[in-house]
Amino acid sequence: MCTNIGATGASVRGGSKVYFGSVSDDPYDIRTRVIVEREEGGYAFVGTDLVPLEANGSAAAYRDSVSGAPTRGLNERGLGFTWALAFERPENTPPDGALKPHDLWRRVMREGESVGDALAILEESPRDMGGLALIADRTGDLAQVEIGRRNIEVTDRRTRGAGGAMVNVNCWVSMQAADGVAAYGLDVPTTSNISRYESANARMSTVDGRIDLGTMRDMLCNHEHKEKFPGENTMLAGHGFSVCNHGTLHKPAFDTAEPCWGTVSAEIIDPVDGVFWYAYGWPCGETPASGDQMLQERSWGAFLGFPLDALPAGTYTTLTGELTHLAAQHFGHLKHLGPSRRIEPLVEAAE
Ligand SMILES: [Zn+2]
Repeated sequence: MCTNIGATGASVRGGSKVYFGSVSDDPYDIRTRVIVEREEGGYAFVGTDLVPLEANGSAAAYRDSVSGAPTRGLNERGLGFTWALAFERPENTPPDGALKPHDLWRRVMREGESVGDALAILEESPRDMGGLALIADRTGDLAQVEIGRRNIEVTDRRTRGAGGAMVNVNCWVSMQAADGVAAYGLDVPTTSNISRYESANARMSTVDGRIDLGTMRDMLCNHEHKEKFPGENTMLAGHGFSVCNHGTLHKPAFDTAEPCWGTVSAEIIDPVDGVFWYAYGWPCGETPASGDQMLQERSWGAFLGFPLDALPAGTYTTLTGELTHLAAQHFGHLKHLGPSRRIEPLVEAAE
């Protein structure tokens, strides 16, 4: 479960860039790490790998569907993507040979140079995923696309010249009536979709025209509806109602049989400068309020920027929020957004 936000052109301060980002909401025992892939036969990319901490942890069907790399990414040509899961009607079975999300996105990263390329690859490929994606490239093009096993539809597409901003949550808008699960629609007030969708759009409106890395971070730290008990969420009990998602069932410890879901990392992608920004845990950096918000006490509360061109292949962060030795070796190339007091201990520990 995730929230995606994106803006280009006139919506962005100075008008020359495109930024898009996401909070990655998963059960707290399914985590992300930053990887760089450089393999023969395709473009290099930086992105996140989604990995369960335990082979027999929580949410088995979800885990088997979405685990792998990349789940967000930016390639060496400046093409990037992020996405959020959409619940698709069970009768929409995948075609033969259909690709799971990470295999589909890996193809996009390795083969695509532009938003147009990415959309063509997604349309042509047999798909075993339901989701909504934001895709952007170095020219400042930004597209919003609804992706299903049976259908695919581009719902918004802006050039840098035209400008514009867009938001995704875990529900289709255009394809919902034909292909979505009605109980999770934006018209159902007891799910965490409409609360995040309306709040993210409202925040976007207040900063439209002056969006930069700082406002992107602030929008991903949006806590509106955080106080509402996540146990009442009829889409997914334990997933919170705010963008920066502090899901909890108020249990003393994380329970794989009845997991709570929240923001395990946040990402901001800057295709123009070729930087993939990442924050482990909650981007707000708050401390957990409940024992079941496992590992969230390790939340960075700051972003590190990974410039793909300067980084060799490998794994840069761990599933428990540390920097790897490889990251420490290349730390001089990484960029910072947010309080440096949050980052310094990570570097010291990795050296
Ligand atoms: Zn937060």
